[in-house]
Amino acid sequence: MESHGTIDPFAALILLDSMALKILILGGTTEARLLAEQLAHDPHYDVLVSYAGRTISVRSPGTPYRVGGFGGVDGLTAFLKTHRFQGVIDATHPYAARISSNAAQACFMAYVPLLRLERPAWNRMEGDIWTEVDNMHHAARAIGCSPRRVFLSIGRLELSAFFVAPRHEYFIRTIDCGNAPVELPRVHMLFGRGPFCFEEEKAFLEREAIEIVVSKNSGSKATYAKIEAARVLRIPVIMIKRPANEAVVYGDPEVAIDWLRKLHETSFSDRGE
Ligand code: NAP
Repeated sequence: MESHGTIDPFAALILLDSMALKILILGGTTEARLLAEQLAHDPHYDVLVSYAGRTISVRSPGTPYRVGGFGGVDGLTAFLKTHRFQGVIDATHPYAARISSNAAQACFMAYVPLLRLERPAWNRMEGDIWTEVDNMHHAARAIGCSPRRVFLSIGRLELSAFFVAPRHEYFIRTIDCGNAPVELPRVHMLFGRGPFCFEEEKAFLEREAIEIVVSKNSGSKATYAKIEAARVLRIPVIMIKRPANEAVVYGDPEVAIDWLRKLHETSFSDRGE
């Protein structure tokens, strides 16, 4: 915007406001939080972050946020239309397949541009002993018949897949205790939110004599230390593959910032501003 002479500060404020793009960030990941923090003080964007509400405490992203489901595709479509969102960034976890599918459908129905931002997966490195499986049920079977000491680093939501294998001793790490009890006979609950460091993860695997690690391929730096520690200790990892998502852009928050910049330019040049 070129400036000519003196600008009435009140008029400038109105102009700034009218040029702020209304953006919904679907969150629940470090990337979503970092992105929101970067946009929080940028007058070009008016950001709302949405959380499913899976954890007891929510870390404020520095922007307004809401908690809870939308009520499926129809609910999200109505939400986008009612609040006149102009862009959606789906920065949810790579394994949160339902909300990503809902977002794709709802954005299509509401004519709202969508960016699906996903962190790249971890690659198998020399020394890694990985068995890749398609889902949690296959992971439970892949642990094997004889009782093992298993580190389950998969969150809380899909623990029921392991009910078929109660013979193992499970070490389960989640962010918080949640509401539902874990119906497995030999369970040690551990609570913690990443980032986790290599020395601590290695010490934990050794102390508890862990024989198998079960993990999603989240791709997060904050949770990679357990994979490195397992490699060094020659502990096998059962790695659950990511659900397929065709419309993914892999990258960090900078990719989303670029996308938003272009969206902002296009939106306001279309309106002749
Ligand atoms: P999901 O299976 O894809 O979604 C289930 C339902 O939860 C959705 O249909 C939606 O309800 C609601 N939902 C999910 N994410 C939402 C969001 N950001 N805002 C509002 N509603 C949301 O998701 P999930 O695997 O349960 O994961 C839930 C959340 O935890 C996600 O936001 C994800 O980023 C985060 N997370 C997941 C994992 C994981 O391993 N799955 C790990 C770390 C963090 P409605 O249909 O009612 O709208």
